[in-house]
Amino acid sequence: ESFEDLGVIAPICEACKNLKFKKPTPIQRQSIPLAMEGRDVIGLAQTGSGKTAAFAIPILQALWEKPQPLFACVLAPTRELAYQISEQFEALGSVIGLRCAVIVGGMDMMSQAVALGKKPHVIVATPGRLMDHLEHTKGFSLRGLKYLVMDEADRLLDMDFGPIIDKLLLLIPLERRTLLFSATMTSKVEKLQRASLSNPVRVAV
Ligand code: AMP
Repeated sequence: ESFEDLGVIAPICEACKNLKFKKPTPIQRQSIPLAMEGRDVIGLAQTGSGKTAAFAIPILQALWEKPQPLFACVLAPTRELAYQISEQFEALGSVIGLRCAVIVGGMDMMSQAVALGKKPHVIVATPGRLMDHLEHTKGFSLRGLKYLVMDEADRLLDMDFGPIIDKLLLLIPLERRTLLFSATMTSKVEKLQRASLSNPVRVAV
């Protein structure tokens, strides 16, 4: 089975080919069609499984169909992971003119505010710094957000981002799609899942 067979549009298939993604990985095969149908998805998958492209591809495809600034937000537990995710989005999305911003702690607030002012399509963020900007950066809001991704949800919660995520959820539209990826399904992840996903499908590899 190829990316074309999953319903992925030609420019993104081309980007996959350029990245030497010959065929979808198991998590991609399961998640991409569900996310493209508009379902909320819980993906149980480890790093190395191809989970980043599993959520990036359906988001990029939806963005290509209807381009919009501040379309998707990905929450990640660490700076390093946030940069890796954004690299993957840019590698897959440059063909469709993607603008992506990384909003993480330990970096200059001012230059991040400037980046947000340029209306990126996708924000990859650590939760605390994203909340700082929602509270302090003039003109920035996530009121039009269509996709929320929580990556490595188990680690997000182990790092005690739970209360900040609860606050963030109040600032994001309810009529959105939510994709949650986690290496393990813990009781904390299940609680977050119940609070943030609607009628989700669970896929595991
Ligand atoms: P991830 O699990 O998202 O951290 O991805 C692990 C690595 O696999 C990354 O370096 C990706 O570029 C690569 N990758 C993702 N999808 C595929 C694929 N379908 N075929 C080959 N490599 C892939």
